[in-house]
Formats: sequence, structure tokens, C-alpha cells
Amino acid sequence: MNVARLNMCHGDREWHQKVISSVRRLNEEKGYAVAVMMDTEGSEIHMGDLGGAPAAKAEDGEIWTFSVRSFEAPLPELTVHVNYEGFAEDVRVGDDLLVDGGMARFEVVEKLGPDVKCRCTDPGLLLPRANLTFWRDGSVVRAKNAMLPTITSKDWLDIDFGIAEGVDFIAVSFVKSAEVINHLKSYIAARSRGSDIAVIAKIESIDSLTNLEEIIRASDGAMVARGDLGAQIPLEQVPSIQQKIVKLCRQLNKPVVVASQLLESMIEYPIPTRAEVADVSEAVHQCADALMLSGESAMGRYPDKALSVLSSVSLRIERWWREEKHHEPLELEDVSSSFADKISEEICISAAKMANKLEVDAVFVYTKGGHMASLLSRCRPDCPIFAFTNSTSMRRRLNLQWGLIPFRLTFSDDMESNLNRTFSLLKARGMIKPGDLVIALSDMLQSIQVMNVP
Ligand code: PGA
Ligand code: MN
Repeated sequence: MNVARLNMCHGDREWHQKVISSVRRLNEEKGYAVAVMMDTEGSEIHMGDLGGAPAAKAEDGEIWTFSVRSFEAPLPELTVHVNYEGFAEDVRVGDDLLVDGGMARFEVVEKLGPDVKCRCTDPGLLLPRANLTFWRDGSVVRAKNAMLPTITSKDWLDIDFGIAEGVDFIAVSFVKSAEVINHLKSYIAARSRGSDIAVIAKIESIDSLTNLEEIIRASDGAMVARGDLGAQIPLEQVPSIQQKIVKLCRQLNKPVVVASQLLESMIEYPIPTRAEVADVSEAVHQCADALMLSGESAMGRYPDKALSVLSSVSLRIERWWREEKHHEPLELEDVSSSFADKISEEICISAAKMANKLEVDAVFVYTKGGHMASLLSRCRPDCPIFAFTNSTSMRRRLNLQWGLIPFRLTFSDDMESNLNRTFSLLKARGMIKPGDLVIALSDMLQSIQVMNVP
């Protein structure tokens, strides 16, 4: 894995703090650069935690009570708590209530003050804190919940926690506009005194689709959050929107994560379905930067198996595309605004072309601010990219981006010495061997060199 996502919707800060410490310790002990992404809960409507029960089963025709009252555990039978105060006011008799985008479905039959009585029309499993959407006449109802803040008061406390813990990324749930991203970025800049936390916009609401380009431009990356997205728009639109977001992010040089249900069946079973493998393969083919597991690794029965399936399927598909030279080059538009960046961009485009034509074994990129590594990753050359940077936090951050294998290096002014030290390092790890043809780029010299590994 490259990045550990902490979903603040579940668990408390103390628990997340332990996970962060474990990741840090493993990075330290094993030399990994696993980054930490804190993901805000956001103001979605979801159920309570089922009074500690791992799940509940709703059967066809049962009448359940969805209530905004808070209950002491154990909950009354056939009752769930809803976190959104305005819920009982907003729903109407006849509305469809979808749990987790359709894992179970109910019809609202009666409203009694804070309680909403619903008949189960599609039986299914209710999981703690499952997301709820309500639909009227075939479209999702965006009554008052659309007015809720994107970043809630609880999220701000979580963000303070993330800043104090020095997380690498903060992912913002249910982003509706670029404004909230800008707001959070200036908050981080004021609070974190120099340490740079990247902000990832989760694209999962209808509103985010109308302001897509603006949101992505403001962010340091995006997530195609297919779970909630699929509950807010017709499911059949999710694949084309995924493709559109992945392409747009690459044009704008922002890393993009494809998330949710990639290997959903592995929550229960030790092997994935063929359809899931095909879905992973499609995301790899689209050249997404990262694929994210959720329930599979957080509460599934086979977390390590799911991760290794994801990794082996991705590597196999990438190798296949490479061998078959299937990658249709994407016409990349210019992204750089300053002249210095334009030079870096052109160097990276040329280096990627040369790498493919000469069929080199690897590209080495030496970069202080990380920007040249990301510009090179954007070109998706058909070989591994070893990226060297002088900061450990930049090394972790680069770990999210397509194809980069980041290392930390104390740079010397002498490029020869940088090259030789990194060649020895990678030879010792078996990642390159004498005679390999490599391209080396540096943003300190703005140079391209082609050479054989000594
Ligand atoms: P979540 O976001 O796992 O935090 O809900 C991802 C998604 O909605 O797909
Ligand atoms: Mn979500």
C-alpha cells in the first residue's frame, strides 16, 4: 500500500491516533513511505451505530422506525437512529429511503414527530453508520441536507487533529464548490506553520459535478467516491463520470483516486468476482493514480488478501498494457503557468517519449519540490519512475502519484554523485542492474541524460 486512509466517519480520534503511530513506526522500521490521508466525515445523512451490533437484517415488509431521537443502547427493536436533525421534517410519506445506495430499500409510510415509519421494500443488511438517501419521483431529494455545511464543526476538530498529527493529505467529503477547498487550504496554511498538507476533493455529490473543473483546479487531487456518487446519481452514469474525472485530473496534473467497491465481495470471500477484476482492470487502464479499498480492508474478513489481489491484478494489467503497447497517448494540454515550469514540463514530455521509444528500463527524477516528478508521472511513461527528493514528507506525498517509486536523498551539488549514490542504492535493492538503460532528469539542472547503469 502507498497511502493509509483514515475515515473519520468511524472510530474515535484516539483509535486513529494509534493507526497513525503504527504507520509511522513501520515507515521508520522498514523504510516505507506510506502516507496518511485523513478523510472528513462531512454532513451526509447516515444511520447511528446500531447500539453496538455489527449489522442488522431488514426483511421484506417489516416496518422499521427511523428516528432523530438519540437512544441509549440497546436500541428498541426495528429502530435506527438518523444523524440529521431535519430528517423527519424533510421526508414525505411515499419517499424511497435507500440504505448505502440500495443495499436495502424502504418506503416511508408514516411520520410521527421525530419518528419516521418505513416499510422494507428491498430486504438487506443494515451496517452501522450506513449512508441514507431519500428519493422522490425518481430523483434524489436534496432538501435541507444540501444546505448543510461541507465541513461540520466535528470535521473542524478532526482537521485540527490531522494538522497536529502531521497527516499528509486531508480528503474533504461531499465537496460542493471550490470555495470550501480554498477555505480549508488557507486554514491549513495558517495553522500548520510551513508543513504542507495536500487537500483532496471527494467527488460524490451532484453539486460537485456541476463545479467539477473549478473544484479540481483548487484541490491538490481528487477522489472518485463511487459509493456515495452511486447513491446520488443513476448508477449507470458512474462509469462515464469516473472516466471523465480521471482524464480531467490528468490534464490538470492532479492525482486521482478511484474508490469504493473495487473488491466488495472480498469483505466476505477470499477471492474476488470476475466482474470486480474487470473493474479494477478498467481503472488501471484509465491510468488512475491510485485505487482505494474501504470495507475490504477496514472490516472485511480478508484485508491482506484484498490488498494483494488489488496489487497483483493492477501490476498484471499494467504489464499487459505495456507489453502490448496498448496505451493510446493522451493529448496533454499545457498545465504550467510560469516559464520555469514550462521548461520542466517540456523536459518531462520529451523524457517520457524517449523512454517509450528507446524502451528504457527506468526514469530517474531528482526533484527538490516534487513538481518535476509529478509532471513526469502525468506523462505515464511505460517504465518505472524512481523519484528522489530531499524531504521525507514530499516522499510520502509523491507516493500517491501514478508510477512513482519515491526515495529520500540528501542532494549534493554534483549530479554525478547523486546518480552514483542512487544507482548503488537501487542495485543493492535489486531494482536495477548493471547495463540497464536509464534516463535521468533533474529540476536543479533542468537536464535530461541517457545512460547505462554502470
Ligand atoms: P466514504 O467515501 O468511504 O468516506 O463514504 C467514498 C465513497 O463514497 O465512495
Ligand atoms: Mn463517501
